[in-house]
Amino acid sequence: MEHPHEILVIGAGSAGRYAARAAALLGKKVTLVESGPFGGLCILKGCMPSKALLRPAHILYQVNHHLHEMGLRLEGKVWPDIPQMIRQKNAMIQEMADDALHGIETTKGITLKKGNFRFTGPHAGQLDGTPVTFEKAVIATGSRIKIPAIPSLQKEWILTSDNVLDLEELPRSILVMGGGPVGLELGQYLSHLGAIVSLVDTNINWHPQVDHTLGRAYLDALESQGMAIYLGIRKEEFIIRGNTPIFRFQIADKQHEIPFDKVLVATGRKPDTEFLNLPAANINTSRHGHVHVDNFLRTSNPQIYAAGDVTGILPVLNLATFQGEQAGRNAALATPVPVRAPLVPIAIFTEPEYARVGMTETQAHERKIPVKTGMISFSDLGKAIVNRQTQGGLKIIAHAKTREILGVELFGTGASDLIHTLTVAMHFHSTIDQYQEILHIHPTFSEIFKYLIDEMTDSL
Ligand SMILES: Cc1cc2nc3c(=O)[nH]c(=O)nc-3n(C[C@H](O)[C@H](O)[C@H](O)COP(=O)(O)OP(=O)(O)OC[C@H]3O[C@@H](n4cnc5c(N)ncnc54)[C@H](O)[C@@H]3O)c2cc1C
Repeated sequence: MEHPHEILVIGAGSAGRYAARAAALLGKKVTLVESGPFGGLCILKGCMPSKALLRPAHILYQVNHHLHEMGLRLEGKVWPDIPQMIRQKNAMIQEMADDALHGIETTKGITLKKGNFRFTGPHAGQLDGTPVTFEKAVIATGSRIKIPAIPSLQKEWILTSDNVLDLEELPRSILVMGGGPVGLELGQYLSHLGAIVSLVDTNINWHPQVDHTLGRAYLDALESQGMAIYLGIRKEEFIIRGNTPIFRFQIADKQHEIPFDKVLVATGRKPDTEFLNLPAANINTSRHGHVHVDNFLRTSNPQIYAAGDVTGILPVLNLATFQGEQAGRNAALATPVPVRAPLVPIAIFTEPEYARVGMTETQAHERKIPVKTGMISFSDLGKAIVNRQTQGGLKIIAHAKTREILGVELFGTGASDLIHTLTVAMHFHSTIDQYQEILHIHPTFSEIFKYLIDEMTDSL
């Protein structure tokens, strides 16, 4: 049977747009469907709006707290004009969304349709009730906010990443639930703008797989700027005393109480699959609703692929676009090809930043890989000293026998850019000895890699 839609891509976020373009470039007729405003999470509510607001908030904090360290004086104080920051942010993201739309509209072979798609069979579905059939499909429906089921957490207290970046007036005190990238970035944003911020997380070691010493030093750096961080919380509950809402919890045997005005819930997101009616298309999901994919990015229905946050592999933009492109290409090919597992560098855009790529030491131990590790602080790095930005640390993990670099973790100014130096080295399977031969410009933050690898190779 011939279907009018050769390839249907569901969701026009980052993964969906890359999938649609890849399939269209291979000559397929692609229908891209989108239920919401055009742009997807990264442009409209995620990476871009958060970074557009983090930047002025970080500058505000630096100017009001650190100018004197450089012998500079400011009479008075710099104040944030939050409504203006938000207007600028909105203008920027609108422009990005318009550019993305233009890119899709001018790509030959793609038809964009508005509507909410739902499967009715392995090759069929409905778009806002209108029947649609397709030969192959790519699911790229992303994720939605998830609110944890904590009894006594009242709806009117709740803020999420979907609305906190549009708050023109900040609450005086905010409880942030969740110490992942979203909680830390948005928590620091609110703190730098002047709110009293307390962040809580049930993990005792921040992130179970990262280096505890480095992770703790990173959180200490954030705390030194005003945000209070509580890890390993247990027995949590919300109470109201007088008119004040309070979050009560225990760490070890000690009880803590934090009064707050609002709660920023940043405890993770859920896959946006509820409306899709996946069983009709024979598509299996995990317990949490993520769409299972194999190493071709195929779902349990071999004619249907999936990419991006909906797969639950790692909710970051670089992986979403990579998977989108590969899934779109495989859907267009007569015989799909296996998708390589790429290195996925990730970052947290606080100040200082945190970044990581490859394996952590814990993961290496779990896989029984013998490793040689090195760790260094930014405190002796010339560039960090002259810039007065010495909060930072780096850890490198190499294979103990082959000496190939296997993983890097760091925090410090510019960590999200610095990480690419070693990501490139790791992509080409560099050993620490090969990396050691590379000259670095002095004074730079990148020199930190050279210093640590000099130590690890005993070359100085
Ligand atoms: C606050 C925040 C900050 C972030 N910052 C970063 C960052 O700095 N760096 C980074 O790498 N990642 C960041 N992320 C994560 C990043 O935004 C996501 O990993 C990425 O955008 C996922 O893209 P996607 O295409 O999989 O999903 P999405 O962009 O969510 O796209 C899914 C699309 O599918 C549509 N859709 C859903 N269901 C249907 C349906 N039934 N029919 C039709 N359309 C449908 C949705 O409307 C949506 O447009 C951040 C996330 C958040 C929340």
